[in-house]
This record gives sequence, structure tokens and C-alpha cells, in this order.
Amino acid sequence: MTSVELDGLVREFGPTRAVDDVSVTVADGEFFTLVGPSGCGKTTTLRLIAGFENPDGGDVRFGGESTTGVPPEDRDVGIVFQSYALFPHMTVGENVAYGLRFRDPPDGVSTAERVAELLELVDLPGMEDREPSALSGGQQQRVALARALAPGPSVLLLDEPMSALDARLRERLRGKVKEIQRELDITTVYVTHDQEEALSVSDRVAVMHDGRVEQVGTPEAVYREPASRFVAEFVGDNNVVDGSASPLETRGSSVAVGSASFDVAESASGNVAVSLRPEALSFGSGGNELDVVVERAEFLGDAYKVYCDWHGTQLLVKTTDAPEPGPATVTFPPEAADVLPE
Ligand code: ATP
Repeated sequence: MTSVELDGLVREFGPTRAVDDVSVTVADGEFFTLVGPSGCGKTTTLRLIAGFENPDGGDVRFGGESTTGVPPEDRDVGIVFQSYALFPHMTVGENVAYGLRFRDPPDGVSTAERVAELLELVDLPGMEDREPSALSGGQQQRVALARALAPGPSVLLLDEPMSALDARLRERLRGKVKEIQRELDITTVYVTHDQEEALSVSDRVAVMHDGRVEQVGTPEAVYREPASRFVAEFVGDNNVVDGSASPLETRGSSVAVGSASFDVAESASGNVAVSLRPEALSFGSGGNELDVVVERAEFLGDAYKVYCDWHGTQLLVKTTDAPEPGPATVTFPPEAADVLPE
């Protein structure tokens, strides 16, 4: 097992800095996710780790050793891509065995034994003789995972492996991937644009934006204490409200937004952006009270997403009961508001 260190990594394509000074260390055995919108540089970063791209600056180190000049097949990584990329003319077993073309199975077991073991691991026992075309998308992706894991790599790289699957299959497969990752204790770098997926499977995530890492942290930290406006808006549903803060005499501050205002527990002054999570807001009285106009509600099954207008600012509220459209009061405690760092 091994750590993966990205140190000042840069990759340029003409005028585009696809990866712009990225430094993160993925710990040994960690499930680490690169998340961000399309074009932010996730895939390029993964390709730099895999060795399919060479950096224009910086270095990728595995367990402290530079990978400069080391070709992909010698990097001890297993890779699963978005497309299943199984060979259609080979059986499932042959596809998994293909993963052993550069390296014998670990622990001196035979290829057939190793293939059987891996198919067991991905919950496809005895499927060796099937054709890939006879498998569902989720099953094909599990075969691709088995193939990537066949040589017993130290690092597993996953590039949007579930994006071609429907929502339910995606959820099942991500549970499986997580379980296998834990079982093998394999250092994993996962790329996804889906922030919910990132939060649900990762030990830590790096939120990327325009080639740079905006924040690295546990899913909870990134969600609850976003380091920037971009992170606050990208991770989860959120309200980010711009206002002008002035300290209160007792504690905290008052944030003026146009002619209205609310209190926050933090001391702040001047122009601020405040993150108000929709689930921290409710309808009723107490704490801060904002007079809003309820515009519409969407039923999500376990909650309603209620769209409100607060003096020209849109506020999203997540509650278990939806008020009728019209005037209402939204309430939240000052502690629920998070003043974003500059
Ligand atoms: P997506 O989720 O859409 O795959 P991403 O976050 O993985 O996006 P990258 O594929 O890493 O982003 O691309 C980052 C930037 O680099 C984009 O602006 C992209 O157009 C550009 N880019 C990536 N590969 C190349 C290439 N081979 N040639 C030119 N530009 C490239």
C-alpha cells in the first residue's frame, strides 16, 4: 500500500491551465475524491497520476518516490474508466485475466484462481464464461473493477466509473466499490462531478475549480465549513447571501441585506457572503425571522424544497411540510449561518 503525493502539479494545454498548482497528499489506504464541475481538471489530474500525461510542472510521488519517467504499466495502479472498456470478443474471465498481462497474480496463485477470486469479490462468482454483452451496465463495470484489481495494484484510480449507470445502480455500485476498497485497504483516487456521490463514499474530498483545489477536507468539513463561496455553492443545495456585516454589542454581528437584516453568531464587518443551508431554515418563529413570500414547493419524498423570495433574494428551505404559496416567516438561529472566508 502506498500514499500518493501531488506536489505543485501543473498541466497546460495551449493557453489552458487544466491543472494549476495542485498539491494534495492522499494517505495510504485512503478513499480520496476529486470533485468539481465539468472542465475543472479532475480527469487530467487522474491521468497525471496514472502516467498517461506528463506534468509541465511539479511531481507525482508514490510512497515518497517520484514517478517521473515511470510509464503507466510500471506505476502499480489499477484504473477503471467511465466507459466499461471491456473487450467484447473476450469472455468475462478473459477480460479479468487481461488485467494480469503485465504481472503475475499475487501470492503465487494461478491465473484461473485469481480470476475466480476477483469475480467473487465483485459479486459475480462463476461468471467467467459469460460474454460482456450478456451483462448489465453495473455488472460490466464490476468486471472492469475486477480487471483493474487483478494484479493487486497499490493504487486504484476511478474516473467517473458510475456515470453511465442509472441512479439506483449507481448507488448500489458505489456501496460495493466502497466495501471493496475497505476490504483491500487500497489507496483510491476517485473522480466525479457528482458532489453527493463524493460526500457519500470518501474519507476526504478535494473540491476543484478551474484547475485548482479550493478545499480539501472530510465530507462533513467541506459541507459544514466551506472554505469559499464556490465550495459553498457547489457542495449540496445552499443559499449564499451577500450582505454588509456590523458587529453587535453583545456577541455576533448583524448582516444587512438591502433594507432587511439577520444576525449571525460570528463577529464580522464589511461585505460578507453568508451560507445558509436550506435544512437549517424552517417556517415559524424564533431566532432570526425573515418575512418571505413562498413561491413554490417541490416534493422530494422525504422533504419539500421550498423556494421563497426574501426582498428580492431567493431562499431555498428544506422542510417536511410545505406551506401554501404566499407570505410566511422563515426562521433560523444565528449559529446556523456561516460567514464564508474572504
Ligand atoms: P469532465 O468532468 O468534463 O471530464 P474534468 O474536470 O475532468 O471535466 P479535464 O478533462 O481534466 O476536466 O479538463 C480540464 C481542462 O483541460 C478543460 O478545459 C479541457 O477542455 C482541457 N483539456 C483536457 N484535455 C485536453 C487535451 N488533451 N487537449 C486540450 N485541452 C484539454
